[in-house]
Amino acid sequence: MARVLYLGGLGRSGTTLVERLLGELPSVCALGEIVHLWQRDIRDDERCGCGARFSACTFWKRVGERAFGHWGNVDVERVRSLRDVVERTRHIPRLAGAQLPPAQLADVREYAAFYTRVYSAAAAVSGAQVVVDSSKHSALAHVLRWADDLDLRVVHVVRDARGVAYSWTKTVARPETDGGDEMTRYSPGRSALLWNAHNAAFGLLARRGVPVHRIRYEQLLTDPRAALRALADYAGVPATDADLTFLGDGYADLRVGHSAAGNPMRFSVGRLPLRRDDAWVRALPSGQRRLVGAVCAPMLRAYGYPLNPAQVSQEA
Ligand SMILES: [Zn+2]
Repeated sequence: MARVLYLGGLGRSGTTLVERLLGELPSVCALGEIVHLWQRDIRDDERCGCGARFSACTFWKRVGERAFGHWGNVDVERVRSLRDVVERTRHIPRLAGAQLPPAQLADVREYAAFYTRVYSAAAAVSGAQVVVDSSKHSALAHVLRWADDLDLRVVHVVRDARGVAYSWTKTVARPETDGGDEMTRYSPGRSALLWNAHNAAFGLLARRGVPVHRIRYEQLLTDPRAALRALADYAGVPATDADLTFLGDGYADLRVGHSAAGNPMRFSVGRLPLRRDDAWVRALPSGQRRLVGAVCAPMLRAYGYPLNPAQVSQEA
């Protein structure tokens, strides 16, 4: 049975950083955002984290052979149509129920099986005990709850909603497409609503009995070593001091990885500075800051975030 650490949370919450740090542990293989594997990699042949085209990456070639005989055997259209039927945010209330009607359960299991085949094959090819899927989407986590033969452990990555909102207003290019393509942008009001919905969905998943380990992005950057140790314990692959030597004082030394899709940070290799980024405190206009703070206040409080920005830099 494959063991997967599923990194969940709203985009720009730090899931890619968590994935990169986990990927440096010896028993862990980080796969990127598998939710995008089907179209961006199998169909469009975008770049792997190692820099090669997906079809030219030896790691993914072997995973595809083991999982499906060949990636060409995957019916990408079928994956897409199943996704429309089962994996949407609006379906979460149904997916979170105690039972599913038989027809829906069959669709959910068929869709989930595409993922579990990739996880199992990647674990076998890499020799890792745990694979990491940083797909983020709460609906997919709810789908995977119904999968056969899967040891699903969710890591819920939370970041201050105002930091997330500020990040969504900035422009980020997508280098993997070799073009002028940019990542999506959201207005602060929209990202505040998404922040509430996605984070609540992971709380719901925990109440349904799925293991969910919550980590605050700001805490990770304050003490990466402690945060990573806790994550490794949760994943069932405790980290030794020797395993953590890639973490220095305020930086991480990253090797090449094979993250299939996701944030451009998956291409970073070498020394990566690790420091808290509270730029939003100064850079997000005060009206927008107050709006996001008000919309997200109940959950910000529940996660232990100070509502007054003046206290943010003191908070650990
Ligand atoms: Zn690769």
